[in-house]
Amino acid sequence: MRIEDYQSLAMRTSTEGHDRAENGCLGLIGESGEIVDAVKKWRFQSGENPPVPVDKLIDECGDVLWYCAELAEGLDADMAELYRRFSEGFYMDLHPLNAVSPLPLLAVHLANAAMRPYAELYDSPETIPDDWRVSQAKCEIVGIMVTVRDILELHCGSTLEEAMQRNIEKLKRRYPDGFDPERSLHRAE
Ligand SMILES: [Mg+2]
Repeated sequence: MRIEDYQSLAMRTSTEGHDRAENGCLGLIGESGEIVDAVKKWRFQSGENPPVPVDKLIDECGDVLWYCAELAEGLDADMAELYRRFSEGFYMDLHPLNAVSPLPLLAVHLANAAMRPYAELYDSPETIPDDWRVSQAKCEIVGIMVTVRDILELHCGSTLEEAMQRNIEKLKRRYPDGFDPERSLHRAE
């Protein structure tokens, strides 16, 4: 799947009439927490030298990407365009991450980045110009995507494109007729 195609496909399972920006912000925190939890279980609850839970991480990275799409949509932004324009060297400026960045560190960076958009958009809004808050939140989307990419490429032998593909396939299986709030509350997986 091309990164450019993902957002519109992801939005197939986003219902109309809700605040996508706020849902995106809160969902990013929850799903990045699921990645931290998977990394914690891998490190401490899986015996000696367990294999990295690649499938679980790719699945959860896909969930994070879905909420990037939701937030981008809520900000009238295109996540692929943001990523293409700003991902180059993103972390080289902010964080000295490289090919040996351990998985727990990347998971924590992700959780940290995922926390920011909510505060940027909703904390003390009367004192900060709207366009500044929105541009900060868009910047965070890029940081989150870069960190997800690094988790996928450095530790899962995967890519953003593959995680996006698998996420869309999962949602198609789960919601063959589009998103259904009832099914989301009472699903088997
Ligand atoms: Mg999840």
